Amino acid sequence: MIRFALRCSRGHEFEGWFKSNAAYDEQHRAGRLECPLCGDRAVDKAIMAPAVARGGRGEGPSPEVVGKLLAMLRALRSYVEANFEHVGDRFPEEARKIHYGEAEPRDIYGEASREEVESLLEEGIEVRPLPWVPKLDG
Ligand SMILES: [Zn+2]
Repeated sequence: MIRFALRCSRGHEFEGWFKSNAAYDEQHRAGRLECPLCGDRAVDKAIMAPAVARGGRGEGPSPEVVGKLLAMLRALRSYVEANFEHVGDRFPEEARKIHYGEAEPRDIYGEASREEVESLLEEGIEVRPLPWVPKLDG
């Protein structure tokens, strides 16, 4: 199953689960997608994350903007490192144990593959991938 963020023509955002990208395309083409809030059938994928692309000319994000973003991401990393327990590649295992009450509830972070994160989410376990930036002193 894949989850897509969807948006109707009136701007309502909601989530839809699909067997595959092709299943989404098929339902989209057939007009079977419907906004749960207003019933609008003009539904499309919402844009998930901001992205930048440079066309070769013009300016990209200024070094100040990039610097500020990196500083925010480093602050996020420091916060997580200070407040969450690092469990490394045991992350999927520990997240499951905590979810199923087999380990003490606590905040953890660690490494997991994309597939592992997806299967955790399918089990209803709250995990979030973080944009991890290298430390300045690292
Ligand atoms: Zn709507």
